[in-house]
Amino acid sequence: MRRTNNQGPYEPKKCWVGENQKICYATKDEAEVAAKVAEYEHGISGLAVYKCEYGDHWHLTKGA
Ligand SMILES: [Zn+2]
Repeated sequence: MRRTNNQGPYEPKKCWVGENQKICYATKDEAEVAAKVAEYEHGISGLAVYKCEYGDHWHLTKGA
């Protein structure tokens, strides 16, 4: 899978992880805030923050 860097002005940075495209967060704090927002606004609980193995950024993943 080819990763393109075609970022529009309001597009969050994303990268491919397996078959999914995930939003990249520059810092762990930023990812944790996004996880809280997802929980409050979308009722998505149990999100975990982890560092991407492909770049210097962080992603959210659904915990067990
Ligand atoms: Zn990544």
